[in-house]
Amino acid sequence: MTTTVDQEKVLRTYAEAARTAHDALTALDQLSGDGDFGDNLREGLDGVTSALDDGPADAPFTVAAGVFLDEVGGTSGPLIGLLFQEIGRALTEHGDGHEGWATGVREGLAAIQRVGEAEPGDRTMVDALAPARDALDGGAGYADTARAALDGARATADIKARRGRASYVGERALGAADPGATGVALFFWSLARVAEPDTELGSVTDAVS
Ligand code: ADP
Ligand code: MG
Repeated sequence: MTTTVDQEKVLRTYAEAARTAHDALTALDQLSGDGDFGDNLREGLDGVTSALDDGPADAPFTVAAGVFLDEVGGTSGPLIGLLFQEIGRALTEHGDGHEGWATGVREGLAAIQRVGEAEPGDRTMVDALAPARDALDGGAGYADTARAALDGARATADIKARRGRASYVGERALGAADPGATGVALFFWSLARVAEPDTELGSVTDAVS
């Protein structure tokens, strides 16, 4: 798999997906947290597209990391910033083919787990990232990776949270997916849309419902 993927297009597609999914993500965070996740993701990614509009970037994901690490609130902002930072580093080192994305996601998840200490099954974004990392490391294509992330996010609906705010609301959030896992799954959905545009993947609305 030597095809390269337009990084800036992935980020712009993700920003559009976050706008489309805003209300659904807000509703999920109202059930399991404080309701700000949809705003955090949409505004963070709008900040990224504005920064990219200012001029061509050598490393778009490093630009995106700067926005999320410095400007985006909530627990998710800095964690997604770490993911982008590691993806930016890996794509610079390995190029934007499969090895670059696989390395970036692997290192990004490791960074998120170092800081947040969540394990798979804790009902966090780790539940979308870990299956995506495993898929990429196993050589899966981008659409199959996105399906793995979306399935991981959906499965959080059956998990009672042990980390983050959702751990305080307990069973109230059962039946609804974790907002952060759903929002991060949309990143893989966006990557797949750009990298494998001809593969059927369903809409953003399908992805968050
Ligand atoms: P806050 O809970 O501070 O309002 P956000 O609403 O921005 O933060 O993000 C909530 C999401 O953050 C959760 O749905 C979950 O996926 C993720 N999250 C919370 N704690 C952790 C953690 N320790 N590790 C990884 N992700 C986490
Ligand atoms: Mg929140």
